[in-house]
Amino acid sequence: MDQTYQRIVLASRPQGRVTPANFRLECVPQSIPGPGQLRVRVHYLSLDPYMRGRMDEAKSYAESQKLDETMIGGAVGVVDASNHPGFAVGDTVVGLLGWQEYGLSDGTMLTKIDTRVVPMSAYLGPVGMPGVTAWYGLNCICEPKRGETVLVSAASGAVGSVVGQLAKQVGCRAVGIAGGPEKCEYVVDELGFDACIDHRSHADAQSMARALRAAAPDGVDCLFENVGGICLDAALSCMNPFGRIALCGLIAGYDGADIALANVRALLVMRLKLRGFIVSDHMDAWPPALAELGRAVATEKIKYRETIAEGLAAAPKAFIGLLAGRNFGKQLVKLV
Ligand code: NDP
Repeated sequence: MDQTYQRIVLASRPQGRVTPANFRLECVPQSIPGPGQLRVRVHYLSLDPYMRGRMDEAKSYAESQKLDETMIGGAVGVVDASNHPGFAVGDTVVGLLGWQEYGLSDGTMLTKIDTRVVPMSAYLGPVGMPGVTAWYGLNCICEPKRGETVLVSAASGAVGSVVGQLAKQVGCRAVGIAGGPEKCEYVVDELGFDACIDHRSHADAQSMARALRAAAPDGVDCLFENVGGICLDAALSCMNPFGRIALCGLIAGYDGADIALANVRALLVMRLKLRGFIVSDHMDAWPPALAELGRAVATEKIKYRETIAEGLAAAPKAFIGLLAGRNFGKQLVKLV
């Protein structure tokens, strides 16, 4: 057993964009599990956009990350010491273990996972929180019907890639928005979307809306919104009457950019339903979603891609890259 281990804490709150100076890598004494506790050797950390919101002090749906404490985050790993009756040494688990090499847990919100047919890292992606987010927003808010058109932004990413593939399984036309030709090509050729718009080649919402109209000639019935800003404004101008919008994320504004909505009128004249949601409010959806997603990944009906940074020290740079679109698919950090 290592006598010490490394962790990353929040050193300061970002003023605008996140910088490496907002984080601090620390070496701390190894933790020994107390009664009812277990210790996990973390193999993969999940980096997720929501962490940006928690780095601020502002009130949000989740508590803000405390200064000088281990960065909050999902992770998968293997139990290496246990005084907990429900977990044995060698069990593979997923839970909120944080940005650290070892995590202590009392078993709360920690789940054993089966890695025989689904790889460990996929429990942080399509068979984890991002997958359930896609499943919930699409099935419970967008409620797509066969033949309808579903539009999703950040389409090559952890959530968006699952949204489009599920929409295709329902028999919809799936249109994505992604950053750059390589991501767009992947979205169409590998994930099976019908079309993908490169948002980097459109300077304003009008230009993007023209491209969207060509990609969705029958209009958009369901919008799964991950980005905000000009992506959302352009999408709003292509919505069909009584369209449904799952407002999942607004990543274009997380680092402080202005994402004011111009096309509010579309909500009224097209009689749209728009619902924001947070996946952790819908715990009843997780078991059916995970069962379906696990089967789909095991049988390769859902494909996914990962960007893997190596070593804990690489996490801040990888996180900053995620907010700037430098990840391609689910952003992970490999520790073991
Ligand atoms: P991704 O794997 O999609 O990575 C983030 C992607 O966002 C980047 O790769 C980039 O893709 C895109 N992006 C970043 N900045 C911009 C910008 N200014 N304009 C357009 N695109 C941008 O992340 P996730 O799949 O994990 O998350 C996607 C969204 O879902 C986020 O908004 C996140 O907050 C939200 N979310 C919400 C949850 C909920 O419960 N409501 C739960 C989980 C996620 P590209 O290069 O293609 O532009």
